[in-house]
Amino acid sequence: MSTSHVIVGDGIAGSSAAETIREEDPDAQITVLTDEGEALYNRILIKEFAKGKLPEAPISIHEPEWYEERDIDLELNTHVQRVDADAHEIHTHEGETYEYDKLLVATGGTPKSLASFGVDNADADGIHHFWTFEDARAIHEQAEEAGTGVVVGAGLLGIDLAAVCGAQGIDAKYLMRGNRWWRYALSLQGAEIVHEGLEEIGVEPVFDSGVDSFEVDDDGHVTAAVDPNGERYEANWAGVAIGLDFNTEWLHGTGIERDDGIFVDEYMRTNVEDIYAAGDIVRYYDTIINDRAQNGSWGSAKEQGAVAGRNMVADGPEEEFRWVSSYSITHFDFPFLSFGHPARGDDEAERKYSDDEWRRLAFEDGQLVGGVLIGDLSQQSSLKQIMRGEWQVADKKEQLLEEDIDVDRLEPTPQAE
Ligand SMILES: Cc1cc2nc3c(=O)[nH]c(=O)nc-3n(C[C@H](O)[C@H](O)[C@H](O)COP(=O)(O)OP(=O)(O)OC[C@H]3O[C@@H](n4cnc5c(N)ncnc54)[C@H](O)[C@@H]3O)c2cc1C
Repeated sequence: MSTSHVIVGDGIAGSSAAETIREEDPDAQITVLTDEGEALYNRILIKEFAKGKLPEAPISIHEPEWYEERDIDLELNTHVQRVDADAHEIHTHEGETYEYDKLLVATGGTPKSLASFGVDNADADGIHHFWTFEDARAIHEQAEEAGTGVVVGAGLLGIDLAAVCGAQGIDAKYLMRGNRWWRYALSLQGAEIVHEGLEEIGVEPVFDSGVDSFEVDDDGHVTAAVDPNGERYEANWAGVAIGLDFNTEWLHGTGIERDDGIFVDEYMRTNVEDIYAAGDIVRYYDTIINDRAQNGSWGSAKEQGAVAGRNMVADGPEEEFRWVSSYSITHFDFPFLSFGHPARGDDEAERKYSDDEWRRLAFEDGQLVGGVLIGDLSQQSSLKQIMRGEWQVADKKEQLLEEDIDVDRLEPTPQAE
């Protein structure tokens, strides 16, 4: 009898698992359920759509025919509400039941609202969160009309919202806590290059700020943001990116171990039999740093989906997830790339090479665990190789900060290993 694989979530993790399962098992029954109204699209590119730089078509990845050709049953607009792990059944909002032999949880996250931090009018009209293509359409439409704006959330998604303001000509302020953008991974020296990039696209960074409340007009549309210092910023458009709540509520009662994400091992298995998880939602066991970790990146989610798919078909630990993720930003004249886990570490090294070239590396227990490259990305493969190899390099900072890293000189000799 063929095995029934049910995948919840048609983001890149879920879709890549479905594709892999079909490649590995021509007879498997595969069902993909998503609460979105469209099949997989490129979430990375929706920011370009919101900026007005790309039409809709190139953002779509899979048309419904893609699933039909592979005999994958795709159910759109289907919200999964509950799992009965003992009965191997899942239940949807419309009262439908799907039986599974293997289940993949690939439901990602939902952007947090400032309402959960007690900010008045945090969900008013004109205040945007950014995750889906639907969000991008609303962002684009209202940004075209907006004159003034604010952005909150000094991280990788917040900067996309700032870039939308820049591209759409919104007179915008980027309200940040502390003295710099992405303070968990960048020093002031590196962040200043990004601040200049923001100024160049017409977005003004405001430090030691944030939002205490939003003001609205009689129609409930945002008109201003007030920061903790009492400063008022006119804004008829606002973008908020302060992190994700992971979509785990439907797993209540299953006994799946989780804590701000689902725990999986390096084979993408949860602690509950026949239930796997992949993508943004997982806190996986990272065999490179030998600790639990989480990645919010496209490449990592795709690879995790593929690894989960192979292990689901094999019904055992066939392949482990071992991956150095990367995330790039392309809004400025200079390229920007973070890799690995740049916000971790017990040691660090950094160097500025020119006005817009900078490198910072993070180390933990002597190993390279991540970093950020601005301006010159040419050393990314060498750095990823060093990280993947788990080489002890924290005492070789000078060599790692050279413009051209001599990997052969850093490679441990067999005796040293
Ligand atoms: C604007 C933006 C820009 C980004 N830029 C980059 C970038 O430049 N580089 C990079 O590496 N990464 C980027 N990312 C992050 C990257 O897109 C994510 O890491 C990746 O898409 C995660 O994939 P996923 O499959 O784990 O989750 P998701 O893509 O979030 O997919 C989860 C799916 O599950 C659905 N779902 C949730 N709950 C249920 C339920 N109960 N029932 C049914 N369906 C459900 C959701 O609606 C969603 O479709 C960006 C993200 C955004 C939003």
